Amino acid sequence: MELGHGRKPIVERIMEPAEAKEKIKNLVQIPIRSQIANEVIGISYGFFSPLQGFMGKADVDSVCKKMRLADGTVWSIPILFDLTAEEIAKLGLKPGMSVLLTFNGNPMAIMEISEIFDYDKKEMCKAVYGTDEAKHPGCARTYAYADKFLAGNITLVNRPKINAPYDPYFIPPLEMRKRFAERGWKRVVAHQTRNVPHTGHEWLMKGAWFQTYAELPIDKPYVGVLVNAIIGAKRKGDYIDEAIILTQDELRKSGYFGDHNHLTSLTFWDMRYAGPREAVFHAALRTNLGLTHHMYGRDHAGVGTYYGAYDAHNLLATVKDELDIVPVYSMNWLFCPHCGEITSEGLCNHKSEWQKFSGTVVRSIVVDGVKPPRLIYRPEVFDVMMECGEKYGFGSPFVTDDYLEKRIPVFEIPPMK
Ligand SMILES: [Zn+2]
Repeated sequence: MELGHGRKPIVERIMEPAEAKEKIKNLVQIPIRSQIANEVIGISYGFFSPLQGFMGKADVDSVCKKMRLADGTVWSIPILFDLTAEEIAKLGLKPGMSVLLTFNGNPMAIMEISEIFDYDKKEMCKAVYGTDEAKHPGCARTYAYADKFLAGNITLVNRPKINAPYDPYFIPPLEMRKRFAERGWKRVVAHQTRNVPHTGHEWLMKGAWFQTYAELPIDKPYVGVLVNAIIGAKRKGDYIDEAIILTQDELRKSGYFGDHNHLTSLTFWDMRYAGPREAVFHAALRTNLGLTHHMYGRDHAGVGTYYGAYDAHNLLATVKDELDIVPVYSMNWLFCPHCGEITSEGLCNHKSEWQKFSGTVVRSIVVDGVKPPRLIYRPEVFDVMMECGEKYGFGSPFVTDDYLEKRIPVFEIPPMK
């Protein structure tokens, strides 16, 4: 039995279509949007273990007030299924009923409704995001929820078809643990990303690899880095998903890492930008994926100026004894012209000469199309990024209106066989 977050067994809540076909015949159908579909996948494959479904009021309340599920397990972000009162009345939904969730017109999962409830959205925002300002993207998402929430266990009845180029990177928890075992990795450190890697990111991973290796013998490669890209809702100016996943893997393919210490994968999740609370959520998620260590840099999963640079580190410290994943902290990595190499804040003493990797600099490089120095950007990574822009991004590796409208979906739910 594989144990995940909270030392609870990881269960795949998946029913084979042959069995499910009969069960779903007469169920009321509810079409779901992509955020909810992402979370149905998260629940049913065990990414969100020990959750077995969407949360009820006791869990939501406890998560908001105590950062724990009602049973005491550390959990930081409510996982909610929302619906309007009108839809609930129209469909005649009641606790005790099972319903069929559909996505892009096809059956996806059964939900056993256990509760229908309200929750104060302002209170939720203050607890989870530390603010109730509508301009915080996590609060905006919360305010956009319909007014009622449905709790209930989820069973996937029709597996998603992951489209190219993402298909090799969808590795659910039970499969991921096998991959780690095959490689002989005793420790694996998670790298959370939504970026095309520059050499600062590369060194973040390399530094964490050294930190994770620590006292282990070096006769064999015992430590791996898992890049776990968050794939979900995009904002204009983000890197396109194809570029993120393919450039991260390019670091391995072109030898900056290798099969012996590097693997790239993805998790479907719409970022909440909850900063410290999202850092705790990432710890649970990556524990379920079988990771032993998790790197946390500056302003992890933050947005704007809502969180201090190391707030996430401080919040993690309050629950670290209950987590089965070791936080690996790091400062910013940057380029030092004096050293002529990548360095970390707190390492060399040429502070006035340091060149930070700002988003603006990277963007101007892309616009110019001139290959940057290899100490800043690996040429192979740069090429893959630009190719992705041409192939998938309608001419740009950054998200544009065209991309939001016409991109290839990451996954689809196929017609049921
Ligand atoms: Zn220096």
